[in-house]
Amino acid sequence: MVERQLRGRGIVDERVLAAMGAVPREQFVPREWTNRAYDDAALPIEGGQAISQPYIVAWMTELLQVVPGGLVLEIGTGSGYQAAVLATIGARVRSIERLPALAAVARERLAGLGLAEAVEVIVADGSLGDPATAPHARVIVTAGAPVVPRPLLDQLGENGRLVIPVGALDDQQLIVVTRQADRLTETPVGGCAFVPLIGAAGFRPGRGGPV
Ligand code: SAM
Repeated sequence: MVERQLRGRGIVDERVLAAMGAVPREQFVPREWTNRAYDDAALPIEGGQAISQPYIVAWMTELLQVVPGGLVLEIGTGSGYQAAVLATIGARVRSIERLPALAAVARERLAGLGLAEAVEVIVADGSLGDPATAPHARVIVTAGAPVVPRPLLDQLGENGRLVIPVGALDDQQLIVVTRQADRLTETPVGGCAFVPLIGAAGFRPGRGGPV
C-alpha cells in the first residue's frame, strides 16, 4: 500500500508514509471487510459511512502539515483511522463525530492501539467547528461540505491550515485554506468524493446521507 498507492502517486512526507505503514488499517474496518482493508479504495463502515481510500488519507495528512505535539481538530471521526494516522505522526487530536454509535466504536479501536490519550473523540455537529478550543492551528474535515463552513473560517488561527472537501453531494474539490495576517486564502488542490457533512453549516439532514 505505502509503496504503490502512496509513494508511487507522489506522497513524499516520510512521516506520513511511516504512519500509514504503521497503523493497522484492518482494525478500523468492519470484520467482513478486513481482507480488503489495504485495497486502493474507500470501504463501508458502520452507520452507512465510509473509511476513506488510503491515498486520500495520506494526501490530506500531508496537506495539513502537522506540527509534532500540535493539536489537530478533525471533523468526521468515522472509523477513527485518520485520527490514528495523525496521532501516529505526533499530533494530539480532537475528533468530532455526529453519530454517537460511530464515535463509540472509534474510541474502542483507538484505545485498543494505545491512542486513547492522543485522540479525544466527541459527539457534536462539527460543521460548527469547536468554539471551546478555538482558535485552531490545524483543521481536517473528512466529510464533503457544500461550502467552507463560516464557523471553521472564523475559528482558524493565525498561520492556521484547514483541509476540506467542498462541492456537490457526490463530487468535491479538496480545498486548503490558510490564514495569514488575517487574510484567508483558498487553494483547490484536486477532486475527491466524500460522504456529506451534515449539520447546521453543512448539508441539511435527509439530503443525501443518513439522518
Ligand atoms: N475520517 C474517517 C475515517 O478515518 O474513517 C472517515 C470519515 S467518513 C468519510 C465521514 C464522517 O463524517 C462520518 O462518520 C459522518 O458521520 C461524519 N459527519 C458527517 N457530518 C458531520 C458533522 N456535522 N459533524 C461531525 N461528523 C460528521
